[in-house]
Amino acid sequence: MSGPDDLGRHLGSLAPIAAAGRRAAVITDFDGTLAAIVEDPGAARPVPGAREALARAASVFGTVAVVSGRPLSFLARHLGDIEGVVLVGIYGLERWVDGSPVEVPAADPWRPVVSVVADRLAAVAPDGVEVERKGLAVTVHWRRRPDQAARMAEAVAVEGERSGLVSHPGRATLELRPPIDVDKGTVVGELVAGAGAACFFGDDLGDLPAFAALDRVALDEGIPVAKVVAADAECPPEVVALADVLVDGPAGAVRALDGMAAAAAAPAG
Ligand SMILES: [Mg+2]
Repeated sequence: MSGPDDLGRHLGSLAPIAAAGRRAAVITDFDGTLAAIVEDPGAARPVPGAREALARAASVFGTVAVVSGRPLSFLARHLGDIEGVVLVGIYGLERWVDGSPVEVPAADPWRPVVSVVADRLAAVAPDGVEVERKGLAVTVHWRRRPDQAARMAEAVAVEGERSGLVSHPGRATLELRPPIDVDKGTVVGELVAGAGAACFFGDDLGDLPAFAALDRVALDEGIPVAKVVAADAECPPEVVALADVLVDGPAGAVRALDGMAAAAAAPAG
């Protein structure tokens, strides 16, 4: 495993991915990976250089994608339309197809269920606890009120039981999503099919299925893969433990993307 300081000197496990050029799939998470984690989840924005790094990557790699738990509309608003970059929202439940947002058909009936659950959670959330309405998912954030973690976890468990939505943990969050067999792992599996090399940049528990999908494709297809973790002090240890490459938060992730794109664009030799 290479550390954050190594990336300035060499790409480590990312070198074979960069070398695959048009045959490479380069996929990244958004929050905590391209955008700093902030107290108000609505205020998260890509760090400086993130859009440019994605655009540069898309100019040299065959597949470049952002796969996030955010709604597609949020990603589109803050990343914009970057030529060649695929945006996937709500862990694969929403994506662009021919210029329009399309959701997994089985998801739509859950929209009113999620809405009711969001209302019920908002009604019991104290000041400083955020209930983020994502359309097809609802996320409870207690970053500003860690003292409310246990209480909100209990409320989420009750609502999950009542509604049939499934609870997923994150960094100072719990999220309820429809019980549909779609996650970052299924999305990454689709995106890397046929690729000659692949990497995924992530930072949180929701990225574990994506990393597992890379491990499967490495085993089944024998292609080089790299699990890149944008780490900070609160990054879950089970995520850090999987890293082939550790980078220093979103700024480090952007530097790594830039380094890969530069290596891929450089003349061979
Ligand atoms: Mg993240």
